[in-house]
Amino acid sequence: RAKSAGGNRFELADPEADARAITRHGLTTALPAALERDEFFIEYQPLVHLGDGSVRGAEALVRWLHPQHGVLGPDRFIPLAEHTGLIVPLGRWVLEQSVRQAREWRERHGAAGPLRINVNLSPCQLTHPGLVQDTVDILERAGVEPDALCLEVTESALIGADDDLLKPLRRLAEMGVDIALDDFGTGYSNLANLRRLPVSILKLDRSFTQGMQQFPADPVDLKIVEGIVSLAHSLDLAVTVEGVETGAQAEQLRILGCDTAQGWYYARPGPPDRLHDLALVDATG
Ligand code: C2E
Ligand code: MG
Ligand code: MG
Ligand code: MG
Repeated sequence: RAKSAGGNRFELADPEADARAITRHGLTTALPAALERDEFFIEYQPLVHLGDGSVRGAEALVRWLHPQHGVLGPDRFIPLAEHTGLIVPLGRWVLEQSVRQAREWRERHGAAGPLRINVNLSPCQLTHPGLVQDTVDILERAGVEPDALCLEVTESALIGADDDLLKPLRRLAEMGVDIALDDFGTGYSNLANLRRLPVSILKLDRSFTQGMQQFPADPVDLKIVEGIVSLAHSLDLAVTVEGVETGAQAEQLRILGCDTAQGWYYARPGPPDRLHDLALVDATG
């Protein structure tokens, strides 16, 4: 922001912005090698049935163990990977790892383990022509049935989607893969539009769950969630809630008719072994 002494020339001096830009640039250029060097890893967060508290599945959440910066969350690098196209091979890697993990849970624990795996898809993966075939191949290689997989697509990625964009999702849904509408309620999609989408699950955004934090909950939030749940159920969609941090929220959301929940109240995202321990505890106790 310093104005140079000599008159009409301005110099930008914002070292923090510089550092951010350098990091962003540095991270972007480091991404391809990171994939080759296996610096990414996946944490799993249980999906819990609100009716009986059993672990039904898990969401796969990718992280980057950066050699200098330590563990980076997806918000730091997914947008960069989307920008450069690396999201396609990275997303394929996440899918393959997650599906194999689901296979391992099943082999070791049968019905007592988490049965389903949720994997996030970015909009760039949706428009990539290899999506359906890659998914089929990955499931076949792992020996996992399509109905064990749920692909999460954000509401905003599907707003205004035309038929070409929906076609691969439709094909996956016909094969038995579940499609979930992630972060539902944050976009401005036309609710009637839901009928066109090949989705079977709505994942209600964390912002709604936050309104249930106090007891009694915010009455407007209650009404909104109640309305979304009844609309979803009337369209044969299951409702999953994210960001459940307290027992009061879980109870409130259960009463409102939500089907499945996910959040720190049950477990933070963690390594795969922790997840099947949780599933076993609840199967035996
Ligand atoms: P998301 O799919 O909506 O995932 C839920 C996010 O909420 C995760 O953040 C999770 O750690 C966090 N979370 C879970 N329970 C709680 C809670 O009780 N309280 C709070 N405050 N947060 C909770 P995370 O892991 O940082 O992931 C952020 C986003 O990055 C994800 O949002 C998803 O959109 C994206 N993402 C993660 N993994 C992948 C991936 O493999 N591919 C793509 N394309 N996107 C991914
Ligand atoms: Mg998700
Ligand atoms: Mg979500
Ligand atoms: Mg979210």
